[in-house]
Amino acid sequence: MNLEAKVLNGFERLSEALKSLLWEKAKVHGISPIQIQLLVFISNHKIDICNVSYMAKEFNVTKATISDAVRVLIKKEYLEKDFSPNDNRRYNLFLTESGSELVKDISNYANPVYNQLKLFSNTELNGAFDVISKLIYKLNQENIIQVQRTCYNCKFYKGDLNSTHYCNLLEKELKNQDIRLDCKDFES
Ligand code: SF4
Repeated sequence: MNLEAKVLNGFERLSEALKSLLWEKAKVHGISPIQIQLLVFISNHKIDICNVSYMAKEFNVTKATISDAVRVLIKKEYLEKDFSPNDNRRYNLFLTESGSELVKDISNYANPVYNQLKLFSNTELNGAFDVISKLIYKLNQENIIQVQRTCYNCKFYKGDLNSTHYCNLLEKELKNQDIRLDCKDFES
């Protein structure tokens, strides 16, 4: 097996491990993994992107899947709708107080992986991050990852994928490890 195939195999194994950690948390709270992912996403992002269409693209699933999960989360009083003043069919979602409490408890589901990562050196982590951030960008270019808010795809980014990076919003040079995968200031 060549190195590319081994790395790919490693990604598959890691993805399975993360899914299984997510399932463990989901079972404890009686909600599904996609419901956990929605709650964590909503807690970390601006309300204007917390709607069914955007989150369907974010998680590469259908709008119907997101709508079903949202319906359950609203029924359980973890989410509420914020309707658009101009169109009462459009709404964004925000966490209720009990939704925020739940997120505090579940968002650490990946800690076993995080704790292992802390044992690697900065050089090793920088190398891994460099490959992963560029891979995400390239898969987005091929429409395999539909949504991404990384520097490489941002209107404020100036530079070359393989050499220097500069953010025109922050007005500073970015090192490889400063590249953001999910920036709140991202604009396409
Ligand atoms: S605004 Fe954020 S995503 Fe855009 S280049 Fe600057 S740091 Fe990167």
